[in-house]
Amino acid sequence: MRERGCVHPTAPSVTDILHAARLVSAHLPETPMWSYPVLNERLGAEVHVKHENVQPTGAFKVRGGINLLARLPEARRADGVLAYSTGNHAQSIAYAARIFGVPCTIVMPENPNTAKVAAIQALGAAVEVKGATMVEAGEYATALAAERGLHLVGVADEPDLIAGVGTLYVEMLTRRPDLDVVIVPVGSGTGASAALLVARAIAPRCRVIAVQSAQAPAAHDSWRAGAPVRRPVETVADGLATGSAFALPQGVMRGLDDFVLVSDEDLRAAQWLLLTEAHTLAELAGAAPLAALITRAGDLAGLKVGLVCTGGNAGPAELHRLLS
Ligand SMILES: *Cc1c(COP(=O)(O)O)cnc(C)c1O
Repeated sequence: MRERGCVHPTAPSVTDILHAARLVSAHLPETPMWSYPVLNERLGAEVHVKHENVQPTGAFKVRGGINLLARLPEARRADGVLAYSTGNHAQSIAYAARIFGVPCTIVMPENPNTAKVAAIQALGAAVEVKGATMVEAGEYATALAAERGLHLVGVADEPDLIAGVGTLYVEMLTRRPDLDVVIVPVGSGTGASAALLVARAIAPRCRVIAVQSAQAPAAHDSWRAGAPVRRPVETVADGLATGSAFALPQGVMRGLDDFVLVSDEDLRAAQWLLLTEAHTLAELAGAAPLAALITRAGDLAGLKVGLVCTGGNAGPAELHRLLS
């Protein structure tokens, strides 16, 4: 079921996620979840913000990286791992590889964010810049992994990443099993599918709502169509910038209660609200759940709503825009 390189990986079980919680908790403390009275008043709901922006890499994905590396067979660890990404996924794998002493190579598309390159290199990973787009970088990464005998870590069709990310929702719903709704931002869908697997198991009456930018709606449109579709990526929210659907998370996400689209402008308004009312610097993707709540405030009035602030890696350009 969980063979590496399997063409059709299957979703992790709840047992897999609880096992991941044990592995991940050895390396990462539980992240805080706070409720902010002014935010509650503004939104007419009891809002609980789960702060993944305080992870050492600035984003929730590190949970998946640690679980995947922890479970990687010893023989494969010695060879090293390779991932391709523009940002948070790369930092997650590089961070986890450092913990387990595994050589790590990251392929990034051309014109990478230099701050992100520096962060990845500081974690001890080698960075190779290749390919005009993520698709081309992915093709290059696949060939390079085969040539050098490295273990290629996929973006989303990876049960161990989903199980690791699920630990966030174990923390959230163990703390607050009374949440009525959890809102999760979607790029590839690992986070939303993990939320759904955990909620159905330990908080079955909690609804799970996904949110994506209308300026990169591939996952949303695939979910509505019931089949994978490609869409242009015009959002400036890095974490949500995915142009195609991934089979494994899409399969799980069929069970979502709703999937909302917000504009990049909505994301900016939510990012500002988190900064001013929750003293939280979110990157745009991390502000998406609040943006969704604002657009659905009528439906969700009076409810207990869990918002996942998935990350805080706003780059210099994003920060400048936020403050001007
Ligand atoms: C990757 C990412 C997302 C989207 O998560 P997926 O599991 O790819 O759907 C959301 N927010 C941030 C900050 C991210 O890095």
